[in-house]
Amino acid sequence: MSVKENLFKIKSQLPDSVTLVAVTKTKSPEIVLEAYQSGQVVFGENKIQEMVAKWEELPKDIQWHMIGHVQRNKVKYMAPFVSLIHGVDSLKLLKEIDKQAQKHKRVINCLFQIHIAEETTKFGLTEDELVEILADEEFPLLQHINIQGVMGMASFTDKMDQIRQEFQLLKSVFERLKQKIPEVNILSMGMSGDYQTAIEEGSTMVRIGSSIFGERNYPGK
Ligand SMILES: *Cc1c(COP(=O)(O)O)cnc(C)c1O
Repeated sequence: MSVKENLFKIKSQLPDSVTLVAVTKTKSPEIVLEAYQSGQVVFGENKIQEMVAKWEELPKDIQWHMIGHVQRNKVKYMAPFVSLIHGVDSLKLLKEIDKQAQKHKRVINCLFQIHIAEETTKFGLTEDELVEILADEEFPLLQHINIQGVMGMASFTDKMDQIRQEFQLLKSVFERLKQKIPEVNILSMGMSGDYQTAIEEGSTMVRIGSSIFGERNYPGK
C-alpha cells in the first residue's frame, strides 16, 4: 500500500477528536511531501537537526512536532518554528525553551513527558517530579511556554493489558494536571502498535510512523 492509502486507512479509524502526528523520522523529505500532498500537515520527528533540515526544505505550513528527547543546547535550532514539543522532562529544559521562544517573540506549546513504562531506559517525569515543577516559584514566570498536556510511551511488550494500564495511568496524570491548568487538552499517547488501545483509554493525539511509512531505515526510538 502507498503512503496515501496507509494514511487514509488510519485516518478513517481515528475519531475526529484525535489528532494524527505522522512520524517521519529517518524518512526522506520526498516521503514527507507525499504525505503532505495527501492532506497531512502535522509531522513528528525525534531529532532536532533532522527536523530543522526538513523544515528548511518543505512547505512552511507544515506543523512540526518534536517527539524525541530534547537536549537543551539544541532548543535554539527549532525555536523559530516548532509547533509542539512533546518531550519536556525538566524545569531546566522548560526554562531554555522559554528563553529561546522569547528571542523569537513566540510562545512555544509544550507537553510534559511522563514515564509510564516499566523500562528504565525511557525518558520522562514521575508524577511527583511533575508536581514539583508546577510548584516551583520559577514556573509561573515562564511567559513564553504554553503547557498543553502530557505525553507518554507504553512499555515495549505484547501484553496489551499492561499497555492499557500504563495508558490509564497517563490519563489520570493528565486529569490531575488539568485540575491545576484547566487549558490543558492534549493527551499524547499511542503509536503504530498500540494506538487503538490508547484511543480507547482517552488519547487525543497519536504518533504513528511505521504503519504509515513502513519500517524505518535504521532502528529509531
Ligand atoms: C518513533 C516514535 C513514534 C512512532 O513509532 P511507530 O511505532 O513507528 O508508530 C511515536 N512516538 C515516539 C516518541 C517515537 O519516537
